[in-house]
Amino acid sequence: MNKEQIIAQDEQHYVPVFARYPIVLSHGEGPYVYDTEGKKYLDFLAGIAVNVLGHAHPKLVAAIAEQAGKIIHCSNLYYTEQQASLAAALTKLAGMDKVFFANSGAEANEGAIKLARKYGKTLSEDRVEIITAENSFHGRTYATLTATAQPKYQKGYEPLPGGFRYVPFNDLEALKNIVSEKTCAVMLEPIQGEGGINIPDAGYLQAVRQLCDDNGALLIFDEIQTGMGRTGNLFAYQTFDVKPDIVTVAKGLGGGVPIGAFLVAGKVADVFHAGDHGSTFGGNPLACAAANSVLAVIAEENLGANAAVMGEYMMAELRKLQSKYSQLILDVRGKGLMIGVQISRPGREIVNRCLEEGYIINCTAGEVLRFVPPLNINKNHIDELIVNLDKVFAEFC
Ligand SMILES: *Cc1c(COP(=O)(O)O)cnc(C)c1O
Repeated sequence: MNKEQIIAQDEQHYVPVFARYPIVLSHGEGPYVYDTEGKKYLDFLAGIAVNVLGHAHPKLVAAIAEQAGKIIHCSNLYYTEQQASLAAALTKLAGMDKVFFANSGAEANEGAIKLARKYGKTLSEDRVEIITAENSFHGRTYATLTATAQPKYQKGYEPLPGGFRYVPFNDLEALKNIVSEKTCAVMLEPIQGEGGINIPDAGYLQAVRQLCDDNGALLIFDEIQTGMGRTGNLFAYQTFDVKPDIVTVAKGLGGGVPIGAFLVAGKVADVFHAGDHGSTFGGNPLACAAANSVLAVIAEENLGANAAVMGEYMMAELRKLQSKYSQLILDVRGKGLMIGVQISRPGREIVNRCLEEGYIINCTAGEVLRFVPPLNINKNHIDELIVNLDKVFAEFC
């Protein structure tokens, strides 16, 4: 099938929930992907912060192939070495006590929310409220959609589950005003991703931690986008030095193979018992083999440190463009390789122009260009992108 035929077939049969770009991708290598017509793209979106090792990393490919030849799936009624070793490695690196494996970000958050509710009930029947932040993104299932405090995602799906309350992100006073003996958890992204790469003020997350402790509430960090080395450490809470009671991770964890997880520490680690939660696929040996390989490569290739250094370099280069195009570029912000560029117009056209030029970037929250590239990129890749951005920005000034 040619490109037009593939697109037509998909449009005819796939539920049209995605506003897709008109290209058909075929394969990738490192930070590059190729479409079916052989055109090459530099990929600074990386499957939305998923392909942390880039495309077709030989170690990840070998780990998946080797595991597929042994056993792909066996259900969670049995033990596997891949799952046991991933559980050990991830809890150790995270400094947490226990882990549960799911298949996606939303599912990891769903489990974390259920766990928080169950924990709240051990304190009192009324301790059910979960407080989340405006402009957050936590997923598309019913509980996670309700946790996602953005009306555009919730509209049309009412009635939503009860017990969720919202505050502006990075506003400690607002949080103080609604935390109570009914609060079972406060759930935040340490840096809001989908909401526009919103970085909290220094001290905000620490103060939230303290507020939770003072009120007997749990702190849940959704690190589905910030985790897996992106901000310079395996988890952003290590970068910000604030430890949550529950942390969720997904996106980069399997390097593209679907897997999510929640990790728990301390008093919450012993809340769930046999039968309280579950998953057929979650943490199957194929997904765990992939995640074990991703963790090994992140350590071997020092990708957290690379993300920190490359992030600083890229933001410095972007700030040069900001001074050149100050009408268009209002702000450059980020941590490691999670970078947002606030612009003064909708970003979609700029994203489209970059795609035509062979650069995959993304726009979120309407007017924020988002860059979440593979963590193993180097300066040459950044320079290549910056030259292109310079050219495209000039067209919009
Ligand atoms: C992507 C994302 C999710 C949802 O993950 P899915 O795998 O799409 O369900 C949840 N939280 C954050 C912060 C995310 O970036």
